[in-house]
Amino acid sequence: MRKTEARRQRRRKARSQHSGVEMANTKQLRACKNCSYISEEDTCPLCGGQTSKEFQGYLIVVDHEKSAIAKQMGIKVNGKFALRVR
Ligand SMILES: [Zn+2]
Repeated sequence: MRKTEARRQRRRKARSQHSGVEMANTKQLRACKNCSYISEEDTCPLCGGQTSKEFQGYLIVVDHEKSAIAKQMGIKVNGKFALRVR
């Protein structure tokens, strides 16, 4: 009796292509110096603060009520927020 390889390894490369990361976004984004909210406006639509092009990294808050980071940063709305604004 001969045993054939019954099992085939199946690897799925299931990388989600619909994640929230927008790497190729050519729009000039600006982050609020006051609340870190990211928009394309000169003044923050959230708090009316001044925005800056000089920011590093951002996080996307999709559910601020469940996000510990959002709580820590005092974020009370969903949206994009810069991690560091200069
Ligand atoms: Zn703001």
